[in-house]
Amino acid sequence: MAPEKNPPPLDEDDIAILKTYGLGPYSSSIKKVEKEIKGLAKKVNDLCGIKESDNGLAAPSQWDLVSDKKMMQGEHPLEVGRCTKIISPNTEDAKYVINISYHAKYVVGLGDKVSPTDIEEDMRVGVDPNKFHIQIPLPPKIDPSVTMMTVEEKPDVTYNDVGGCKEQIEKMREVVELPMLHPEKFVKLGIDPPKGVLCYGPLGTGKTLLARAVANRTDACFIRVIGSELVRKYIGEGAKMVRELFQMARSKKACIIFFDEVDAIGGARFDDGVGGDNEVQRTMLEIVNQLDGFDARGNIKVLMATNRPDTLDPALLRPGRLDRKVEFGLPNLESRTQIFKIHTRTMNCERDIRFELLARLCPNCTGADIRSVCTEAGMFAIRAWRKTVTEKDFLDAVDKVIKGYKKFSATPKYMAYN
Ligand code: ADP
Repeated sequence: MAPEKNPPPLDEDDIAILKTYGLGPYSSSIKKVEKEIKGLAKKVNDLCGIKESDNGLAAPSQWDLVSDKKMMQGEHPLEVGRCTKIISPNTEDAKYVINISYHAKYVVGLGDKVSPTDIEEDMRVGVDPNKFHIQIPLPPKIDPSVTMMTVEEKPDVTYNDVGGCKEQIEKMREVVELPMLHPEKFVKLGIDPPKGVLCYGPLGTGKTLLARAVANRTDACFIRVIGSELVRKYIGEGAKMVRELFQMARSKKACIIFFDEVDAIGGARFDDGVGGDNEVQRTMLEIVNQLDGFDARGNIKVLMATNRPDTLDPALLRPGRLDRKVEFGLPNLESRTQIFKIHTRTMNCERDIRFELLARLCPNCTGADIRSVCTEAGMFAIRAWRKTVTEKDFLDAVDKVIKGYKKFSATPKYMAYN
């Protein structure tokens, strides 16, 4: 629209309005032009058929149905299948047998975007729903709840952080570390190393700690599963998690699977008449099955820990499965002194603290008890606004933790089982 050179003559209404607001003639002409533009825009919209819609759709006159249809045909969502067999691989006309949702099987070719080297047998693939050509390779399916379990690529605990337990360290190194670091020794001798170890003993005696230290030494990934996490509501779910757990372990270079509190699932089988425990037993049998399934000389080791070894099912402990059993006892005086030293390493302590005296004051204590004594001593120092921990703080802490909390300790009960 060409701008008007002179402002158009004002009509009487406009002049009246201007007079009331005390405005000059130009503002009125600007307003008039604005009004005209609005009117014209409305006219254009009416002619095109555009309406202000709530759903954000363009006007039907602007729809391009043909090209939309083309686009939809080009980008169908893919179906997920499994490539079960490759017929005549490494040739030009290789064909792939795929399974889609268990009942349908097809022999198909590859799409344009995948190369034959990308596809392996027993791999999940995305196929287009029309011709079922393989379009993309998919990663293996692992239940998110499995990946949520504590997985440490390399734990930060070393043998130096474990106080005492010399015998246990020796045994674990022999069974877990040696086959992983020097498998050739076993090959030469022609024997299979044990697949797993059962660690048993009172709570807080360093079973988990030592397992992590072994994983650190062997550069292995450490997966910790608590037995009760595998107890599920629906039939077969626990067993499926175990399978996926081992599948994840196999995908790592080296792996240590640590089942903590294994008595939650590994209890001896019995019939309660109701069948409520069947699911738990099924989960345990899947673990047994997986233990039988993997190669003893491979890079997976299974460790289990419990404080109730007497309740475990004999099927788990059969030779060839968890054939090594390592007992973790209460630390002796020398070990307790060492554990005190380990836990005070990072603390700001007074010099010349008599750790042996402290160790003497805590008979029948576990490593975890000693750690809590050290923490409590630190708390005493904080309460007194001091920057260093004194021997008196430790003595007070021993009084509070060891004597005061005696009634909460589970150790005497454990001692009664044996
Ligand atoms: P559990 O035997 O129940 O698996 P943990 O290994 O989890 O016990 O021990 C709990 C904590 O107690 C550890 O994190 C560690 O700080 C301390 N602890 C237990 N035993 C020892 C030990 N021998 N040396 C050093 N610390 C220990």
